[in-house]
Amino acid sequence: MTQLKGNGISVEHEVDGSDNNIVIINTCGFIDNAKQESIDTILKYAGAKKEGLIEKVYVTGCLSQRYRSELESEIPDVDAWFGTMELPQLLKKFKADYKHELIGERVITTAKHYAYLKISEGCDRPCSFCAIPIMRGKHISKPIETVLTEAKNLARNGVKELLLIAQDSTYYGLDIYKKRNLAELLDKLSDVDGIDWIRLHYAFPTGFPEDILDIMGRKDKICNYLDIPLQHASSNMLQIMRRGTTRDKTEQLLNTIRTKVPDIAIRTTMLVGHSGETEQDFQELLDFAKEWRFERLGVFTYSHEEGTHAYKMKDDVPQEIKEERANELMALQEQISLELNEEKVGKTFKTLIDRKESGYFVGRTEYDSPEVDNEVLIDANEHFLRIGDFANVEITEAREFDLIGIPAKTIS
Ligand code: SF4
Repeated sequence: MTQLKGNGISVEHEVDGSDNNIVIINTCGFIDNAKQESIDTILKYAGAKKEGLIEKVYVTGCLSQRYRSELESEIPDVDAWFGTMELPQLLKKFKADYKHELIGERVITTAKHYAYLKISEGCDRPCSFCAIPIMRGKHISKPIETVLTEAKNLARNGVKELLLIAQDSTYYGLDIYKKRNLAELLDKLSDVDGIDWIRLHYAFPTGFPEDILDIMGRKDKICNYLDIPLQHASSNMLQIMRRGTTRDKTEQLLNTIRTKVPDIAIRTTMLVGHSGETEQDFQELLDFAKEWRFERLGVFTYSHEEGTHAYKMKDDVPQEIKEERANELMALQEQISLELNEEKVGKTFKTLIDRKESGYFVGRTEYDSPEVDNEVLIDANEHFLRIGDFANVEITEAREFDLIGIPAKTIS
């Protein structure tokens, strides 16, 4: 979007009913549900083109990287398809040039006060179930200076919270600096004026650089929050899934994390129904989740993906069992989440107000990432808060995935 704007082209994100005449669809090709959503979106706009409502449809991103030739013949109404590394070719369709001087500039498509900041692209891991390396290639870290430039630009445009993302954030630096360098990056980012919160996502557990926990403890701006996708707990499954770790090592790491940063909120994701997962493996996963009581936990059901290592195995867990296991794990998590939330009643948290919706101001604490975690709801008929501001909020009521509160004192 920045490159198009920099070439003088008007561009808007996800708007219906605008008078723009060309639609670019950025796709995901990770698992069945994401592919379906991408295809539905392409078909919707191919239909709009047929009806004469728009002139052209271009498709880019992971789905077209992965299935380009099939898609070209199946959906001929699309004018052109681009892979994940073909931004300059896409720009050519607009008679626009790729401008290097725009590196680090961003058009923000989320709320104005937070932004996702990608610190690296691609992945060198061999996880059995994952098609991401096929689509995104090998791990390439962005140099620290580039990330800092981007962070400063974002801060200048009003961003207060950075959500650091990558396919594998704990690998950061190993390619270009020959060492895991996430701690240094976090340290430097926490010196950027205007940024109040820095949140770390997708921290792969194997080879976890423990020095980031020291920085987290030392620097207030680094949220006491860690998104660490564990995927499973049974050593048998971790081996089949080629995760490079065991249950014992995972527990040692979790112990270290919770000892070094005692009030940390840990978010994890689990994958159920992978080829070879027995009832016993699943029970072990349930016991593990009961024991560790993660503050946040999401579950995916296994999707059998061409080109992955697991594709050579039989997809031997029936779909209904996959779903039953996912539901059982989520039901357990719902109870854990409610109990942990109930402990917050009567306490006050610094809260970033994201939006106003259905009569509530909706915010988040440092323990919550947008869209996936808990929200704090404040009655908008009773209280006034400004979107994008921090407020101290006292929690008065807890639900499974939401907290209800009242402002204690606005602090910015
Ligand atoms: S680390 Fe993440 S992105 Fe990389 S292969 Fe494993 S699951 Fe996929």
